[in-house]
Amino acid sequence: MSLPEAFTDRLVQIVPREQFESIIKTFDSPKQVTFRVNTLKSSPQELEAELNAARIPFERIKWLEGVYRITPENKLSLTQTDAFYGGRLYIQNLASMIAPMILAPKPEETVLDLAAAPGGKTLMLAGMMENTGWLSAVEPSRERFFRLCDNLKSQGVANAHTYMTDGRSVGKKCPEMFDRILLDAPCSSEARFKTHEPKSMSFWSVHKVKETSKLQRRLLLSAFDALKPGGKLLYCTCSFSPEENEGPLQHLLERHGEDLTTIPLILPFDNIQKPLERWGKEIFDERIQNAVRILPTDTIDGFFLCLLEKNKK
Ligand code: SAM
Repeated sequence: MSLPEAFTDRLVQIVPREQFESIIKTFDSPKQVTFRVNTLKSSPQELEAELNAARIPFERIKWLEGVYRITPENKLSLTQTDAFYGGRLYIQNLASMIAPMILAPKPEETVLDLAAAPGGKTLMLAGMMENTGWLSAVEPSRERFFRLCDNLKSQGVANAHTYMTDGRSVGKKCPEMFDRILLDAPCSSEARFKTHEPKSMSFWSVHKVKETSKLQRRLLLSAFDALKPGGKLLYCTCSFSPEENEGPLQHLLERHGEDLTTIPLILPFDNIQKPLERWGKEIFDERIQNAVRILPTDTIDGFFLCLLEKNKK
């Protein structure tokens, strides 16, 4: 199945022209598999010894300790190891690991994951917090909520408090409570489209993108309300659409522009792009330029990230 035409018509206006063809190819080809050690149960040295014993050839990702890459052909063997069953490793796309890496929570902090299921990023946050402090994980979808709880349990997370509730209500219920907040927003998942999996794109439409943008705006305002002065908030999506990325940030800046500072993001690879300065008739606040759009390759999915700090009063 080919990509939706309306999607490619928009994508060509978003990503750099000279990279459009190579980006389009990434939706077709199998991705390298990446995974990381679960530091709550093991260490890079111990996991590497287990992988060697299981004869699984792996490559270290140089810029992120305890993270590895294998070819898609070796994925099945990896999922048959004791390390996999014992929750000592977690398979996750590199793009998803970058969000906790940038938010960088510390032990004993209060942290909120406002759209948490199935919990890949919550697990990594808990590892970085060394299972201390307070980690709230919010997910309104019942089925996904229970998957989140199962994942946290099997991976040894002890500092998480789970809430089956709508993230839009959290800001009012918990004003200025958290040191760090991750909003990995529900999105149209454009960066997860796979031409060999028609289901991955069957629900997509421009109308859906615009509807999702409204939810993202409200979630971002709620997240900002829940952030302590001096606290850090990371907004991210796995979509390319400006309505889902620059758009919600613009909305937040129009309401709280005096109260926040965006932080420039520096990533250790070059398949990145600055946010758009405008989309259609909308001209975006120049502070959004500190965010970053990751362009997909055979190893990393597309992603958009913006880190901001709430100004101290
Ligand atoms: N952070 C997750 C991870 O790394 O495993 C992935 C999160 S996924 C991109 C977005 C999640 O937001 C979905 O599980 C979706 O059910 C949830 N969601 C949808 N509407 C929401 C809302 N109003 N409040 C909070 N979460 C919501």
